[in-house]
Amino acid sequence: MENKMHFYNTLTRRVEQFIPNEDGKVAMYTCGPTVYHFAHIGNLRCYIMEDLLEKTLRYIGYDVKRVMNITDVGHLSSDADTGEDKMVAGAKREHKTVMEIAKFYTEAFFEDCKKLNIKTPDVVEPATNCIDEFQKVIGRLLETGYAYESGGNIYFDTSKLKEYYVFSGQSEQELLVGVRDDVEEDANKRNKSDFVLWFTKSKFEDQELKWESPWGVGYPGWHIECSCISMKHLGEYMDIHCGGVDNIFPHHTNEIAQSEAYLGHKWCNYWLHVHHLNDKTGKMSKSKGKILTVSTLEENGYDPMVYRLFCLQSHYRKPLEFSYEVLDNMSAAYDKLVKRIASLQREGEVDREKFDAYRTQFETALCDDLNSSMAITVLYDMLKDDMSDATKFALAENFDQVLSLNLTTALEKKSEESGVDAELEQYIMEKIEERKAAKKEKDFAKADAIRDELMAKGILLEDTREGVKWKKA
Ligand code: AMP
Ligand code: ZN
Repeated sequence: MENKMHFYNTLTRRVEQFIPNEDGKVAMYTCGPTVYHFAHIGNLRCYIMEDLLEKTLRYIGYDVKRVMNITDVGHLSSDADTGEDKMVAGAKREHKTVMEIAKFYTEAFFEDCKKLNIKTPDVVEPATNCIDEFQKVIGRLLETGYAYESGGNIYFDTSKLKEYYVFSGQSEQELLVGVRDDVEEDANKRNKSDFVLWFTKSKFEDQELKWESPWGVGYPGWHIECSCISMKHLGEYMDIHCGGVDNIFPHHTNEIAQSEAYLGHKWCNYWLHVHHLNDKTGKMSKSKGKILTVSTLEENGYDPMVYRLFCLQSHYRKPLEFSYEVLDNMSAAYDKLVKRIASLQREGEVDREKFDAYRTQFETALCDDLNSSMAITVLYDMLKDDMSDATKFALAENFDQVLSLNLTTALEKKSEESGVDAELEQYIMEKIEERKAAKKEKDFAKADAIRDELMAKGILLEDTREGVKWKKA
């Protein structure tokens, strides 16, 4: 089939035409969450953009198989193999077992994904399911001299590789974007860049989950998980590997090192990395204390779709700054958009020529390095165009296969939840605006009359600090 997709490949540092190993098929891998806490909306930006990539590939006709791991062991508080296992720290924090924490936060993660219309990957595999696979690969790396034992742990020997810093052009310092500052030197390493494949010794003796191995009772390192889980389900060749930019180094660099040493050939051709969501103080991260989650947004009155729109309006290769002001604008834009679409007459003839022309424009935007904001511009342009409502509605439905913004269903869903139909809601909004204007003019009698009139219709108005809210009385 025709390979239309182009995106920025971190490996070659340019936008490239995407050509999969097997015609029409895509083997795709995503680094999954470490389930020791709720995902913050920064993590979820990454999963939204990866979801967009997967859906775009499906939209243009590829048969995609997407695999994701769940990290439930081995991810230490520093990405560079030092500190306590994040899962153990999470369990201590909540006075639970690691497996209880893993179950709870895995479910919470998929609930958040559902709210954001992020499709669940075809295969989701927790690391603790694959201990045999990890041991098989580690055993082979020891046999072939790519790994060594030191101080009780098994390390990967990066000096055995022709090239370790494969995402080249960047210095080690630049590569350390997301890695925490608390990196300690491990005296067991032969080379500074070596990393742990299997731990039996650590400063933290209370590691809860441990397994027998030929090298002693212990647990796997974080990096080996993704290499083995992807190979287990996608085989020896992979098309696209994605993650956040902080995964480039050391995580993805190490994944490539051990996978290619094990396989003896190139492993994955395309690497796509999503930039961070920042707040005013910098990268949003869980270690900073209070985290912003989908539930926080909901508690503040935002539909999760508004956050998805916010992410899609930016380019995945640019850092994005979060603020409630921008989210408010996005919320107003989203409401207007879904109302506009809900007002379209669905019945009638679809203009095939127009439909195909807009579909092509939409596809072209997405195939141009996932230009999602341009794809949304195409949506706005088509809504303004002089063509039948039925054509517009059909296009909105079609685009939503990729955008997943509930474009054609949001209002119905909302009216189902609130028990108020779209027409009455429109009326309430108009009356709220009229009342606001009356209050501004100090015409309090009129303002009160509007409140009473709505009350008679069973609608209660509340004046809050965030503005006027309404609910069924
Ligand atoms: P973790 O659960 O910490 O392993 O992270 C899950 C995913 O979120 C990884 O792919 C990270 O690269 C990504 N990530 C972490 N912080 C951010 C952020 N502030 N913005 C966007 N993505 C992030
Ligand atoms: Zn990974």
